[in-house]
Amino acid sequence: MTGTAKSPRFVFSPKYVVDIGDHVFPTRKFALAAALLAGAGEFVEPEPASREDLLLAHDAGWVDKVLSGRMALADETLMEMPFSPEVSLAHRLQAGGTILAAEDALERGVGLHVGGGSHHAFADHAEGFCVLNDIACAIAKLLGDGRIKRVAVVDLDVHQGNGTAAIFRGRPEVFTFSMHQESIYPFPKERGTLDVGLPDGTKDDEYLRALERHLPRVFEHGADLVVYQAGVDVAEGDLLGGLRLTDEGILKRDELICASCRRRTTPLVVTLGGGYSADVDRTARLHAATLRMAARSGIGLISYRWNQGHIVEGGVMAEQQVGAVDHFFSNISVSMIKLTEPVKVGDKLRIKGKAGELVHAVSSMQINRVPAQEGKAGDVISLKVEQKVRPGDLVFKVVDPAPAG
Ligand SMILES: [Zn+2]
Repeated sequence: MTGTAKSPRFVFSPKYVVDIGDHVFPTRKFALAAALLAGAGEFVEPEPASREDLLLAHDAGWVDKVLSGRMALADETLMEMPFSPEVSLAHRLQAGGTILAAEDALERGVGLHVGGGSHHAFADHAEGFCVLNDIACAIAKLLGDGRIKRVAVVDLDVHQGNGTAAIFRGRPEVFTFSMHQESIYPFPKERGTLDVGLPDGTKDDEYLRALERHLPRVFEHGADLVVYQAGVDVAEGDLLGGLRLTDEGILKRDELICASCRRRTTPLVVTLGGGYSADVDRTARLHAATLRMAARSGIGLISYRWNQGHIVEGGVMAEQQVGAVDHFFSNISVSMIKLTEPVKVGDKLRIKGKAGELVHAVSSMQINRVPAQEGKAGDVISLKVEQKVRPGDLVFKVVDPAPAG
């Protein structure tokens, strides 16, 4: 380990709470969840997303409507709530909040948003209480900055993440996974990368088995960041959802996502999404439990920023030295590495030397010109790498950081 890990922090603004009348979506759940997390860590307030940031995921016509407040009745009908300058600001703040939390994830391992998850917002219109797609804005911004190359959305709200799927259709670097109740809104479902529709009344065991079955495919995508939409409207008794998860089942769901990210040292950003219990305190408790779980997940890792295969910002990285560069064939960009510890296909290596630093995900290797899945101490493995390395450069494996206590 080098340096000191920065702790995760909670992103929240009191302005997320807006009076929209007597509505199934009680915006005060955000403040109640934040209150439950007081004392569990530092809080930071986001800035409203800028027009430019919103344009990364939305059409100019829609952004102008949201910023000017000039909504047509049809827009509000799809939104399913009354629009106001306060609603506009709240949703711009939430988009800014998910952007900030995603940046936190790259710098702290985990980004925690006490808000966000507006997955029904499309590029050009609102739907289902979702005005601006904060998830899409954050992803588009980090991809555009070159800070990530591949990203996975894990959307476990009871409703399909239709807006997110539509916005990223045809973008193979963004894997959109949604597991939801099949028989409820939205109709029709949009096609994401992986959609799993569950039957009405699905309970904990069946739900968790399905999640375990599908998560490996999501992680095979090799994302540099996972954006989790952790809707708690999967809870039994939810006014809008018809699944039957217990509070304990929801926590197990969250732990599965956190553990998968921890195992792969993949930064994780958590957004809240839906939750419509008749008892708003229960919704807030469930949201707070998700964030507390993620804060303690031990994805303490790593601060590296990808830019054409180079680390452009150092930081904390859990790592273990596994060998040194023995030889480099510059004409074919192949590095030979003498191992002092085992290395296998799928490992992430960091090669440090005079020419700079390189993070390399091992997709294939050879030993004595024969393809191999794994090399052991004493072996000399050959890998194709993305930039020049030199004999003597040290090779580290990015390892699973110890879970926090
Ligand atoms: Zn929902």
